[in-house]
Amino acid sequence: MTGSVQAKRVLSGMRPTGKLHLGNYVGALGNWVGMQDHYNCFFFIADWHALTTDYADTSRLKENCAEVMLDWLAAGLDPERSTMFIQSHIPQHAELYLLFSMITPLGWLERVPTYKEQRENITEKDLGMHGFLGYPVLQAADILMYKADFVPVGEDQVPHVELTREIARRFNQFYPRKNHGRSPRDSGREVAEEVPFVFPEPQPLLTPSAKLPGTDGRKMSKSYGNTILLTDPEPLLRQKLKTMVTDPARVRRTDPGNPDVCPVGDLHKIFSEARINAQVNAGCRSAGIGCIECKSWAADALVSILNPLQERRKKYEHNPRLAWDILEQGSARASRVAEETMAEVRQAMQMSRDFPCAGR
Ligand code: SF4
Repeated sequence: MTGSVQAKRVLSGMRPTGKLHLGNYVGALGNWVGMQDHYNCFFFIADWHALTTDYADTSRLKENCAEVMLDWLAAGLDPERSTMFIQSHIPQHAELYLLFSMITPLGWLERVPTYKEQRENITEKDLGMHGFLGYPVLQAADILMYKADFVPVGEDQVPHVELTREIARRFNQFYPRKNHGRSPRDSGREVAEEVPFVFPEPQPLLTPSAKLPGTDGRKMSKSYGNTILLTDPEPLLRQKLKTMVTDPARVRRTDPGNPDVCPVGDLHKIFSEARINAQVNAGCRSAGIGCIECKSWAADALVSILNPLQERRKKYEHNPRLAWDILEQGSARASRVAEETMAEVRQAMQMSRDFPCAGR
């Protein structure tokens, strides 16, 4: 859809945490792949965002970016249809972040629910940093830079999109567009209808967020060490499934269980076909099947989903330069859009680079 004038624009990013796990796939990546058929997609690796919490050690940052990119391509993100880039390769994000930070009241940032939540929950790192408080402003810059129509988010991220909308409104109010004869979407082409403001307000695109437990039953997360990676080979994946927690009521093989309170049951609901889910449901509740058998069916479903991804990944692993080149091409494309936006921003703020007496 890239290049289609009618297609609405979608933007989303992911922090470079290294190899991705099934939770990343279910919560974001799998949805992104489907969006490519309907939207003009911009996806970026948010390496500056990673610094807001992991600023002290950058030794693995670049390697982690490369791993994320390999997983994106493996999952089916297609450079012909999506613009993929690394945030720090587009320095205009930093410029817009700085300008937005001048007009964003502190109170707006202190009210962001994830800010309070993370300050309370992440105690092993000092998060009393300017960058951590300001990261929703950086997010606003990421989104508004590309004038995204939609931002795919889970329920918990909706306040961030709302903050982005507020920042856009505030900017538009302070700095209405000057000399606005060009459309940002059609570089260089005069358009009949002029828009009196620089930034449109993006809408959240609520993505279905299936509950995906890790092997210990808590939310799948690298920080809990309970993940199933998209790259896990079949023997390792089956091993992880074998040790996965189950309904605690099923102590003995003869005890009936309940798939609705079992993490393995949750995996079946997401990944197994209806016929298997029916067998799990009946067999678990009647103690007609054992957990070992049930887990092997879940492993079968995961293997059939992950195998094609792993095959696709191999092509890029054998030639890592190829993935990096795709990122560089995406960065070049993103950079052109970003510079168009920044030219409008500078002009609206009367900070353009033109000679001040031009036209006299
Ligand atoms: S049979 Fe399956 S769903 Fe039921 S408790 Fe065992 S692993 Fe969980």
